Amino acid sequence: MIKENITEVTERIAQACRRVGRNPSEVTLIAVSKTKPVEMLLEAYEAGMREFGENKPQELRDKAAIITQPIHWHMIGTLQKNKIKYVVGTACMIHSVDSFELAAAINKEAEKRNVTCRILLEVNIAKEDSKHGFQPDEVIELLPELAGLQNISVVGLMTVAPYTENAEENRGYFRKMKQLLIDINMKNIDNIFMSVLSMGMSSDYEVAIEEGATMVRVGTGIFGERIYPTKG
Ligand SMILES: *Cc1c(COP(=O)(O)O)cnc(C)c1O
Repeated sequence: MIKENITEVTERIAQACRRVGRNPSEVTLIAVSKTKPVEMLLEAYEAGMREFGENKPQELRDKAAIITQPIHWHMIGTLQKNKIKYVVGTACMIHSVDSFELAAAINKEAEKRNVTCRILLEVNIAKEDSKHGFQPDEVIELLPELAGLQNISVVGLMTVAPYTENAEENRGYFRKMKQLLIDINMKNIDNIFMSVLSMGMSSDYEVAIEEGATMVRVGTGIFGERIYPTKG
C-alpha cells in the first residue's frame, strides 16, 4: 500500500510539474512519518523514499537512532528551545523556525557541535491566529541579523497553508510565498540566498508545485490517516 501510494504521489508531482513546465527533479518529496511506526518508514525506504519529516523532536531523535539506513530527517513541527538538542546534528533541515530567538538558539547549539544547520523560516502567510510563523515583512526585517549567525544557513521559506478541502483556495497563498522568496533574493543580502520553498501537503501539494514549491510534505497521502492516541 505504501509503495503504491508513493508511486501515485510521485506521478502526480510529475504531472503538476509538466503542467507548468517545471522539471520534476526540482521538487523533493518528504514523507511525513509522524505517529507512524518505524516498520512503515522502512517500507517507504524500500520503496525508494529517502526524505522523512517529523514534527516532534524526541520522535525524530528516537526514530533516527533506530533507523540506520542513509536517510534525511526534516524537522517540520513546532520547536521549543529546550528540545533543539534533539534535532541539531540529526535533522538535515529545520523547516519550522518562527522566531529570531529560536534561530539564535539553534545557532548556539550548532556552534557547540561544530556543525552548520540549514533552516527555513516559517511564514504565516494566511495570518491565521492558530498558526505559528512570521509575517512577510518581519522576515525581511530580520534577515540581515540572521545572516550574521555563523552556524545556521537560512536556505528558504516554509508555510503551512490553511486546512481546506479545495486546494485552489490556497493557490493565492502559495503564490505570495513564491513572490516573497523572489523579493528576498532581489535584495541581495549578504549570505542570504533562498532556494527552498517548502509548501504543500496531502490535500494541496499539486497546487503548491504549480506555484513553485521545491519541497512538499506529504503524510496521509503516503502512510494513510493518522490515529492519535486518546488521552485519559
Ligand atoms: C502533518 C504535517 C504535514 C503532512 O500532513 P498531511 O496532510 O498528512 O499530508 C505536513 N507539514 C506539517 C508541518 C505537518 O505537521
